[in-house]
Amino acid sequence: MDLRCEGCAGCCVDWRPLDPAAAGSDRTGPRPPLDDLHDLAPLTRDEVAGFVDDGLAAALTPRLFEPADRDDSVRIDGVDLAAVDDRPVFVVGPRKPPKPVAPVGTDEPRWLDAYVFLDPTTLQCRIHGDDRYPRTSATYPGHNLELDAETECERVEAAGGGDRIDAAASSLDGLVREVEGDAGAPGTPGWD
Ligand code: SF4
Repeated sequence: MDLRCEGCAGCCVDWRPLDPAAAGSDRTGPRPPLDDLHDLAPLTRDEVAGFVDDGLAAALTPRLFEPADRDDSVRIDGVDLAAVDDRPVFVVGPRKPPKPVAPVGTDEPRWLDAYVFLDPTTLQCRIHGDDRYPRTSATYPGHNLELDAETECERVEAAGGGDRIDAAASSLDGLVREVEGDAGAPGTPGWD
């Protein structure tokens, strides 16, 4: 797979204030998340433990879900949560604090919720190449392509973001992307 991430950051920011169509939605299932974070990129258990061991727990955020019909649920502070064995189901991913950033197709930086490790000036990921670089980021959007699901790359392309995926090179070799000037996108559906 050949991605053109340089200068993009399309999947690293919350596009809803810029272009809702380009943002898409990660609230399509029967269990909507309780939070308003867009495109949370879920981490594995070991990745979460690694960030916590490094003192970076503040870079992470949990996501809880409303229960679907017939789901087990647990009520906490008056809120029903999807649960298994009376324990809430959750995922953990990188936070998206607001940053002044100008992703692909925009000229001026503006305050957008952005992947916690995204450098808003260079549009590069600060932990790309690091041991802590999440697998979700390393493989995005390979799984989407394999499942024939829309990617952020295609959405930002459609919104005027140029040619992000090289179709001629879009075999999913190892589901690990080869990038030109990688932005370290968390992907998402993140998991941007
Ligand atoms: S993965 Fe796609 S949307 Fe994300 S930075 Fe790279 S080209 Fe842009």
